[in-house]
Amino acid sequence: MVSHPLLEVRDVASGYGETQILFGVSLRVEKGGITALLGSNGAGKTTTLWTIMGVLSAWKGRIIFSQANVTRLPTHRRVEMGLVLVPEGRRLWPNLTVHENLVLGATPPRARARMEENLEIVFNLFPRLKERLNQKAGTLSGGEQQMLAIARGLMTGPEVLMLDEPSLGLAPKLVQEIASILKRLRDEEGKTVLLVEQNVHISLSIADYGYILENGRIVLEGEPEELQKDPRLKQAYLGV
Ligand code: ATP
Repeated sequence: MVSHPLLEVRDVASGYGETQILFGVSLRVEKGGITALLGSNGAGKTTTLWTIMGVLSAWKGRIIFSQANVTRLPTHRRVEMGLVLVPEGRRLWPNLTVHENLVLGATPPRARARMEENLEIVFNLFPRLKERLNQKAGTLSGGEQQMLAIARGLMTGPEVLMLDEPSLGLAPKLVQEIASILKRLRDEEGKTVLLVEQNVHISLSIADYGYILENGRIVLEGEPEELQKDPRLKQAYLGV
């Protein structure tokens, strides 16, 4: 039997205006796993996520999700189908409470119907948010805001949860905490994660498979153990 990935990016080119940023990117996100898309500043990671979401349209290639070609679907349709992005910089509503931010995450009909169930998952993973339900999001610490951003993404009822640099600007201890939450999401909730990161070390410690993007091209891919041994990766990212 041929197995199909839950999400597949096939030979996608994309960019802004006339500036091409992605040059034939291909990657597969397997159901129930953590897939890491890694690369340095400006490699095109965010551009890849935006193209998957349809915020940017693919110039060529295909986005296949749940075996359907979604390349030409508008973003909101993709969200309704279960493609959910936690954007870089969190983009919370700072003047609304934690609870209001969570409820506003549950906008697709599918998510609204499962609001209570998803809140339970969120409270189980993020007990600190449960204690701060009535606090304004803007007054949370950086780490708590990142947790709320992930929690809000979960309220949207993702089939694939995509995270754009969740570790950005966080202290090492909090980065570890976020990593262990992503692991629990996979192991306890069976969620599928596409993790975009500059932090190669932490990502490979939790990922099932990884891709390295450079100048809009995938230059290396493999299981974390193989990638960590690869001299090109060692040289470029691990400072060896
Ligand atoms: P970072 O970690 O810095 O976010 P990244 O790998 O996510 O890096 P992208 O944000 O995808 O990289 O950016 C890839 C390239 O696209 C960069 O050269 C960037 O300057 C360019 N770019 C990003 N956004 C725009 C835009 N709105 N208009 C034009 N060029 C853009």
